[in-house]
Amino acid sequence: MNTLTEKMRALARELLEKGEVKYIIGWEKGSLWYQSPPVFIDRPEDAGRLIWDEFCVNNLAKYLLDDKYLEGRVGLFVKGCDARGINRLLQDRQVERDKFYLMGIVCPGVKDPRQAAGLSIEQREEVPLAAKCLYCAHPEPVVYDVLLNEAGEAYRPKRPAGERFEDVAALEAMSPDERYEFWARQYQRCIRCYACRNVCPACNCRECIFDRSQSGWVGKRMAGSENAFYGLTRAWHVAGRCIECGECERVCPMGIPIMTLNKKIIKELNELFGEYEAGVSLEAEPPLGRYRTDDPDFS
Ligand code: SF4
Ligand code: SF4
Ligand code: SF4
Repeated sequence: MNTLTEKMRALARELLEKGEVKYIIGWEKGSLWYQSPPVFIDRPEDAGRLIWDEFCVNNLAKYLLDDKYLEGRVGLFVKGCDARGINRLLQDRQVERDKFYLMGIVCPGVKDPRQAAGLSIEQREEVPLAAKCLYCAHPEPVVYDVLLNEAGEAYRPKRPAGERFEDVAALEAMSPDERYEFWARQYQRCIRCYACRNVCPACNCRECIFDRSQSGWVGKRMAGSENAFYGLTRAWHVAGRCIECGECERVCPMGIPIMTLNKKIIKELNELFGEYEAGVSLEAEPPLGRYRTDDPDFS
């Protein structure tokens, strides 16, 4: 058992025994060696189920929305991207800071279980880093109550910052017709499962337009044009608020390159309004989330 896992279990046990949290959200070992799904622990004797390994890929922040009105606190383990998700929810006034206790993990990078499927446990080292980790600029949690490990511990090399918008550059090199064809082909395959929305900490509206059968904006029919409308609407709804956690693309069962769309919008916003990284600071306002009466467009 690794040191971090030991620390996680000890702290979780202590918090539950003292009644400082109602339950803890972390990761446990799944039925396959390359799966470490989320787990919810509410008894001290179950703290031994918690683990940390390279497959703790799920962002746990969004689970806080499932228990917004709980009396008492929830304990939550946070990697860098989970912590940015917490700031997203706080900035959107979706959760209250005193309702949860954050146990920070300086993240060495994680692996996508889907890329390990078909490999044997002896090939564990060959599983590549999850796509989101290649560009990660904040492996250290930006918000926490206690930090469980030291900065720099076993951190894997990441792609140079200049390559953050690499996929976008390929898209921009296409002609408008080619780009249209590209996205039309992608969204033709979308099955409107809404996994990308459900996992996203920035998709936190109390009622989503796509759950309203008579919104008049889009039908339930599965067709390329309506699917694309869904994808584009979601992309605009998270514009300036997307924390680049990559969860939407990771969970998409159809392999749609959702992050390319998100990153294109982030790149455009950076060029128009200046560099901004969502979820890193609570003080910095999202570029599209400022309401000022002296705005030239205010009327
Ligand atoms: S994106 Fe960063 S913080 Fe999140 S899992 Fe990857 S390396 Fe860790
Ligand atoms: S749009 Fe995707 S990358 Fe952005 S916050 Fe949502 S899940 Fe994360
Ligand atoms: S996860 Fe993929 S298939 Fe499902 S709605 Fe989102 S884009 Fe479509």
